[in-house]
Amino acid sequence: MSYFSISNVSKSYDEIPALLPFSLEMAQGDFLSIVGESGSGKSTLLKIMAGLEVQDSGEVFLDGKPILNPNQKIVSGYDEIRLIHQNFHLYPNSTVEENISRQLLHYEKEYAKSRVEYLLKLLGLNEFRDRFPRQLSGGQKQKVAIGKAMAVEPDILLLDEPFSSLDTIQTHRLITELKEIFKALGTTVIFVTHDLDDALRLTDNLIILQKGKIAQKGTSKQLCEKPKTKYVAQLFSPINKLPDSKNSYIRPADVKLRTKGGLIAHVTDSRFLVHYNSLQVQLKESGITWEVDDSQRKYEIGDRVYLSWDDAKLMTL
Ligand code: ADP
Ligand code: MG
Repeated sequence: MSYFSISNVSKSYDEIPALLPFSLEMAQGDFLSIVGESGSGKSTLLKIMAGLEVQDSGEVFLDGKPILNPNQKIVSGYDEIRLIHQNFHLYPNSTVEENISRQLLHYEKEYAKSRVEYLLKLLGLNEFRDRFPRQLSGGQKQKVAIGKAMAVEPDILLLDEPFSSLDTIQTHRLITELKEIFKALGTTVIFVTHDLDDALRLTDNLIILQKGKIAQKGTSKQLCEKPKTKYVAQLFSPINKLPDSKNSYIRPADVKLRTKGGLIAHVTDSRFLVHYNSLQVQLKESGITWEVDDSQRKYEIGDRVYLSWDDAKLMTL
């Protein structure tokens, strides 16, 4: 049996399924992102994993030991599995240091002190140790929440949309820091988000959750290059349907723009994006509209372009 194992866990609320039988095996130290839109069952799944929600069926095991749900255990939850909620749950009238040390009241004093020092340093919070949560930025608050969860040395950290209250720059900075921190600690991490971009930055392994069901799992590269469904394909970029085909699609980045040879089209719109111009083109024969990336920023509205592609880049969906 693997280190962390979820087998056929399911949950309905008022007979409406929130999570269909879900299974997962993880090795110690694995990093995984679960991506799904709002309502896809992400929080329900994490709560069941942490022993904080009663599932209708299925079981969770950590290191061969069953994780009991609140119906089976008097004090729900485990020190070994810590769930971090998106709205931090910090003690407002305690300092950064106290927020972390309060987790360790039942531990030996010397140990508790050294653990708090270690975490403050690791998380870059030393200079903010005497501040109250209201005196911190969103990213700093998030790190205190992680410090609180890490205080008791959990084996598994479950992060529920940890970046939803941060802006893009803060998020990117925090992701870079967290990757280092989790690696240093050797913690097994499951990160849940609605934002594919954040997931791609944080982990190589992904599960796409759609309406309580796994739509696909694999590495970022596998999911982007070989999506099994239109839903998965469209999370990564818009897709263009080949004219006269039933289910062949190409990504905007995989369409080659030439001045001759290929499908004839006209540029109808052009948007300046960071790495390329995103063109809207109308195909001459079929009249359908495609999106294509003009990485050389060469074409303008009204231009005639010729479109071609490598057949290896086609996706059958
Ligand atoms: P996510 O975290 O992906 O947004 P959730 O796991 O929170 O999804 O919710 C999945 C579905 O279950 C949603 O349709 C939600 O409305 C429903 N749900 C979640 N918690 C409850 C609850 N306590 N009572 C009733 N319905 C719930
Ligand atoms: Mg949620």
